[in-house]
Amino acid sequence: MAAGMDYQPVIGLEVHVQLSTRAKLFCSCGTDYSGQPPNTHVCPVCLGLPGALPVLNEQALHLAVKAVLAFEGRVAPYSKFARKHYFYPDLPKAYQISQYDQPIGLGGHVDIEVDGAPKRIGLTRIHMEEDAGKLVHPEGASHSLVDYNRCSMPLVEIVSEPELASPEEARLYLLKLKSVLEYLEASDCNMEEGSLRCDANVSLMPRGSKTFGAKAEVKNMNSFKAVARALEYEIERQSRLLDDGERVAQETRLWDEGAGKTFPMRSKEDAHDYRYFPEPDLPPVVLETEFIDSIRKELPELPDARRLRFVEQYGLGAYDASVLTAQKAVAEFFETAARAHASPKSVSNWIQSELLGYLNRDGLGIGDVKFAAADLAALVQLIDAGTISGKIAKDVFAEMYASGKVPAQIVKERGLEQISDEGAIVVAVDRAIADNAEAAASFRAGKTAAMGFLVGQVMRLTKGKANPGLVNKLLREKLGGEG
Ligand code: ADP
Ligand code: ZN
Ligand code: MG
Repeated sequence: MAAGMDYQPVIGLEVHVQLSTRAKLFCSCGTDYSGQPPNTHVCPVCLGLPGALPVLNEQALHLAVKAVLAFEGRVAPYSKFARKHYFYPDLPKAYQISQYDQPIGLGGHVDIEVDGAPKRIGLTRIHMEEDAGKLVHPEGASHSLVDYNRCSMPLVEIVSEPELASPEEARLYLLKLKSVLEYLEASDCNMEEGSLRCDANVSLMPRGSKTFGAKAEVKNMNSFKAVARALEYEIERQSRLLDDGERVAQETRLWDEGAGKTFPMRSKEDAHDYRYFPEPDLPPVVLETEFIDSIRKELPELPDARRLRFVEQYGLGAYDASVLTAQKAVAEFFETAARAHASPKSVSNWIQSELLGYLNRDGLGIGDVKFAAADLAALVQLIDAGTISGKIAKDVFAEMYASGKVPAQIVKERGLEQISDEGAIVVAVDRAIADNAEAAASFRAGKTAAMGFLVGQVMRLTKGKANPGLVNKLLREKLGGEG
């Protein structure tokens, strides 16, 4: 960065999340069109044919209310739909049914942790709206095609206050949002597949100022990392403009992942450009307190609460607990294993250092794991019982991961039981000492470092199966060392 002013970034995110419902938002078309031919999940309502009338999907309303409550927002007892007008070929009605001045949810917050300190990011609103279709541009063709399968898919838009101060905070915010929505089973929040989309608003102001600068709204990022990269690029671009005494244009920009840059798309439209007006085909959404309370009672334990409970109940460190609870499925895998064999810290270590490492390497999720949580518990139990060493256990784990076989079977098939029979180990110890006279002499002369080498030789001779504690003890006895 040029040696310019010190600017404070101001970031606010608008996140569109696809709700996991069976049917679309205003018709009974199925939402499971993935991999299906274009325009097969459509009907007069979602195609906007004249005379077809929308009816609000109750499951979508339910999930939207659940989301508002989970983020501790206020569920509006009276909310309504509005038409947002714009022309684009993927929008057959030439308006989108959305919510405008009376959304389903107001306020609420998302809590993140920045450099070890908690930070609360306010939410402005959460509203329901329908998705648009999709344009397809066939390679080399001079025309485009339209696929209306996505038309009227149920979305909630979650709008944050401009309270994020860095790209990293934006990333943490998105991770937390996703985590909570996954716990609710409200959405699968897959950014690569488009079930979570994020528009990032960013502006700069001199550090210490209270007056916001003009913002750019950046679209088209398809991963959390891309959001952070796009914001970093924008901050850099805007600070250069300001340093040069130029103005930042209030505009919508597109992130180009390949170029690693944002490009102007259009100047930002104002609300009045959309000619919002109340949707006459849908009645207002009037919710009784009892209805809202009954949904509140359905809320599951959420990630923050579960993290605190893991610390208390299992004695885990705060960091470990937050890794284990970020994804509901991982948290449940952990709890099932910890219940089967009460060694929570070991189970936690195996999940974090081995299981999540493997899954990360292979781009897989916990749902793809071939073995059961109880099998991981069984592996830890084999170590705790001294049947296998921790080192051998890593090989066993690799095979469990690859084949889904249970650990006892792997240990048996490959003859991996730890050798805890002194007689068998003594043979290897004698051999290691005889073969490595120099190391033995050096240990006798007080160089304790030689011990590690000799232990390694015994382990090699026993193919890693000797009980390491016994190897140490026997070597010391043979070499007459005390230390
Ligand atoms: P618009 O009218 O352009 O849609 P809104 O006020 O509705 O703007 O805000 C949209 C999003 O932009 C919100 O997430 C909000 O927090 C964020 N935002 C608003 N003003 C700024 C700003 N000056 N800098 C960065 N983000 C902002
Ligand atoms: Zn339909
Ligand atoms: Mg707005």
